[in-house]
Amino acid sequence: MDVRKAQRLRDMLILIGLCMVLGSYVFEPLMIPGAVVAFSCLIPHFLWNKCPHCGRQLGRNEAEFCQFCGGKIDD
Ligand SMILES: [Zn+2]
Repeated sequence: MDVRKAQRLRDMLILIGLCMVLGSYVFEPLMIPGAVVAFSCLIPHFLWNKCPHCGRQLGRNEAEFCQFCGGKIDD
């Protein structure tokens, strides 16, 4: 799993989860699975959203370079 894939997966999970939670106003059983999907975005975020050089959390950084060590993120 590389950083870009992890970031894309995280963004997709949070979007899908939020849509499901919003959809629960119409169809209530979506609430719990929606919350689970939305929170599961934390898994790729904490496991793989790290700089390959210094290993620090990149946070919302989607730039080409690490904000801590300046290393290139796409390898
Ligand atoms: Zn770094």
